[in-house]
Amino acid sequence: MPPTATLEDIKAHQRKVEKDNFTPDNLPPCPRCSVESEFFKIHAYRERRFFIIIEMLIKAAYCSLVRFRCPGCGKTFTDYPDFAIPHKHYTRQSITGFSARYLESEKMTYQQAVMVDGSAPGYEQSHPTDASILAPTTIHRWITTLGRFTQTCRTALILLLQETPVSSICRDLARLIIPQRKYKTNQRKKQLINCRQLVIIEAFFQATFKTSIFTKLATRCAFS
Ligand SMILES: [Zn+2]
Repeated sequence: MPPTATLEDIKAHQRKVEKDNFTPDNLPPCPRCSVESEFFKIHAYRERRFFIIIEMLIKAAYCSLVRFRCPGCGKTFTDYPDFAIPHKHYTRQSITGFSARYLESEKMTYQQAVMVDGSAPGYEQSHPTDASILAPTTIHRWITTLGRFTQTCRTALILLLQETPVSSICRDLARLIIPQRKYKTNQRKKQLINCRQLVIIEAFFQATFKTSIFTKLATRCAFS
């Protein structure tokens, strides 16, 4: 089973939010007027539903995301915890884990990528409008999303090479091949390559800096 953020991760974020001194640690200076994020003011709290997968059950967990406002120009910014990817309900760990599972096996199909020991994780409480299990098309969409984080990947790669100039990462990235059966268009091929590169860069980044590229770097690159 690919990893997931835990209920404890989500509760820990909520506890941080509820303490009065929540600070925008993950945010860069305002891109519009360069005011440092330490001067940002809390603008709003938004409750968000996350899905975590525990023993094949997809459970909903809730926590607040904090929106900050720049006092210089009024622009607002969401502070994302490292388990959150904008507009996604599943956690970063599940999204990258299931995507990697599909990409790293030559013969894996989307259908197989959601199956663990013969069945797909199912929702604890399903709504009439929701699917009852994790759908193969969801993995397809996650890869599309992760394939867009090219600026984040480029910046992470620069940091990695500064830290470890003799790293094998460039060789690993250059060697990537996507089996032809996995795409019909060049655009999809590019998304698959970008996503696989992200998975590799994330693994090197975690090993080198003991943190995810989604903790600060992706926010600094505006999730692009
Ligand atoms: Zn500003």
